[in-house]
Amino acid sequence: MTLTHPSRPARNKGTLAVDPMLLLTQEGIPRHSLPLVETGPEVAYQVIHDELMLDGNARMNLATFVTTWMEPHAERLMAECLDKNMIDKDEYPQTAELESRCVEILSRLWHATEEGRATGCSTTGSSEAAMLGGLALKRRWQQRRAAAGLPTDKPNIVMGINVQICWEKFANYWDVEMRLVPMDGDRYHLSADGAVALCDENTIGVIAVLGSTFDGSYEPVAEICAALDDLQSRTGLDIPVHVDGASGAFVAPFLDPDLSWDFALPRVASINASGHKYGLVYPGVGWILWRDATALPEDLIFWVNYLGDTMPTFALNFSRPGAQVVAQYYNFLRLGFDGYSKIHGYAREVATRLSAEIAEIGPFQLLTKGDELPVFAFALKPEVSGYTAFDVSDALRQRGWQVPAYTFPANREDLTALRVVVRRGFSHDLSELLMNDLRRVVERLERGGGADPDAAPGFHH
Ligand SMILES: *Cc1c(COP(=O)(O)O)cnc(C)c1O
Repeated sequence: MTLTHPSRPARNKGTLAVDPMLLLTQEGIPRHSLPLVETGPEVAYQVIHDELMLDGNARMNLATFVTTWMEPHAERLMAECLDKNMIDKDEYPQTAELESRCVEILSRLWHATEEGRATGCSTTGSSEAAMLGGLALKRRWQQRRAAAGLPTDKPNIVMGINVQICWEKFANYWDVEMRLVPMDGDRYHLSADGAVALCDENTIGVIAVLGSTFDGSYEPVAEICAALDDLQSRTGLDIPVHVDGASGAFVAPFLDPDLSWDFALPRVASINASGHKYGLVYPGVGWILWRDATALPEDLIFWVNYLGDTMPTFALNFSRPGAQVVAQYYNFLRLGFDGYSKIHGYAREVATRLSAEIAEIGPFQLLTKGDELPVFAFALKPEVSGYTAFDVSDALRQRGWQVPAYTFPANREDLTALRVVVRRGFSHDLSELLMNDLRRVVERLERGGGADPDAAPGFHH
């Protein structure tokens, strides 16, 4: 649609330029201030719809972990629940019921023992879940220390330098010293030895990530727990582990049933996951579960009214949309164990095949293969000169693909990687299209750059 009309040139930059056929009553709609009068719903819709066309095509976005496709039935349910407020358990008892069923489902999926069934809740995402998980660790540590008459003013938390930014936020917002284990050689995530070496009596917990956003690899949760068991037997220090399973807690149960990472390990106190990543729900839902009531200190819990009863809540937000929680339950019901296994199994198949093909082109080396999370990272071989991973990323973007390039943290600042996140909606067919573009991009960059004629704007005569 054309947005300007020849008879109305030189519009004020602060005014939205709207098709004259739509603009029946108003002279202009201010862009940055509240309009004085109403705008018709058709006009308002069309103006915003047109502007949003400039947002990217999410299906070609291989940068994000977040769900970009759901079934129409799920979308219909979500539309029906747009007005539901998660906190209003009195008004929406069934939404609350679905939330607690989701917690029970996850509790079993993550091997909480039947007697001391895990307790937990939904959140807006893994970030909020991480704040809650971290707070519980901090409070438990404080209580233990206070009971022993020891100082509680210098808490620290131990994790790999590859942790997602939410843990830096946690440490910053709640005044906890962050102790980061650096990368080392081709180890791009936390190691058991590295974690134990940074622990002391002020350590509130160790964060183990399943899997890392840098390269899709799983951290060795069982090894980390075993090393902390050993630390306890040597020193008496009993340090709990929180698993940041933002992605992996929705992948490993289905694809890696033999992997030991969850509540089956007694040292794992709590687990968070993003419902809106491999839980396959549109953004705004996460989950946090504690292995049992003792892992979640009573004094962090607030009691809200629920059908004349009271129900425990622990959350940073008050009002929050209920639609995502309903959609999570829809996925559980609709897909079941087999459905999740098939969808994620397919994603892993696409990821591993794609990574193998990328390794074959020549200039790239794989850092990971996509055989843990369906996510892999690759870099240019050291001998490649004349172009960088950033050039590859830029060139792919000209074709609409988002494959981000980024520099690794200490001690691998020398390494620049590209990362591909495969998720529902990215098929073998689409990955073939990406491969064709990547081969072309590499050929051109190897020849010494220059614009890609296929990507040039305009058309050929
Ligand atoms: C995405 C991610 C987070 C943050 O999760 P949100 O749901 O986006 O808030 C935290 N940790 C890891 C490992 C992640 O991948």
